Amino acid sequence: MKPLLTPNYIGRFAPSPTGQLHLGSVYTALASYLDARACGGLWKLRFDDLDTPRNVQGAVSDILHTLDVLGLHWDGEVDYQHLHTSEYEDVLAELIKKNRVYRCVCSRKNLSRVYDKTCRNAAISHSLPHSLRLRVENKTLCIHDRLQDQLIQNVAIDYGDFILKRKDAIIAYQFAVVIDDARQHITDVVRGVDLLYETPKQCYLQHCLTLPSPNYCHLPVLIDKNGKKLSKTTLASAVDIQSPSDVLVQLLTLLRQDPPSQLQYASVADILTWAIAHWDSEKLKGITTIVV
Ligand code: GLU
Repeated sequence: MKPLLTPNYIGRFAPSPTGQLHLGSVYTALASYLDARACGGLWKLRFDDLDTPRNVQGAVSDILHTLDVLGLHWDGEVDYQHLHTSEYEDVLAELIKKNRVYRCVCSRKNLSRVYDKTCRNAAISHSLPHSLRLRVENKTLCIHDRLQDQLIQNVAIDYGDFILKRKDAIIAYQFAVVIDDARQHITDVVRGVDLLYETPKQCYLQHCLTLPSPNYCHLPVLIDKNGKKLSKTTLASAVDIQSPSDVLVQLLTLLRQDPPSQLQYASVADILTWAIAHWDSEKLKGITTIVV
């Protein structure tokens, strides 16, 4: 099914600069790019670089180069989370003023998956190293996803009060991503299904901050033959961009787009033109993993 043209579509790719792009991350980049372009929309690039201990020197320029060689050209300036630290702090200050967050000194090691609210009503001195948690209220959320089953969750029951600012003073991913997507007017988030269960927390925050929720499309993730997701932690190697056409055709096959075999001899620009014209995300419906 051909996507309808929705020129107000704004998509994004938000890599963390923790190393070079591997096949799994380029796969996400290509899918979000094609989804945006097939709708006649914009595609933005943002570096999720707040988690500074994980950042790797040179990763930003490697990622920019890889995207460029693969013809995945973004719209506008590249955005970086580190440019917006005062914005996150301002929103946090508002939440503190409204008593929506509290200090927590619990260490992650001793915690069960759902936070037990130990510090919710404790008077924790600001001089102690602490994280800041959101007071989550009982509210059932229904997340609609273009590819995955509808997800019904109650953040209070399923996760509990979650962290907005970590003990090491780093703004948590959940919080930053919500503010970033709103700042960039993102209408459609296309990313790996490994982030599906993070989405209810993000929707809950959007609700708290009266921000719009984008449409979500969680793609299957690429796994190796042992069932492990390709990721930097499984030491997935950097994608080889010596022959970009081969990489794109391989990715289009993994994205179930059935590229014609002669496409491998085409230029990057021609492959992308074909892929935009034929993009059909429905072919990935309900799939959560693809073995490479
Ligand atoms: N920065 C995250 C990652 O590299 C992606 C965040 C998102 O798409 O929401 O996994």
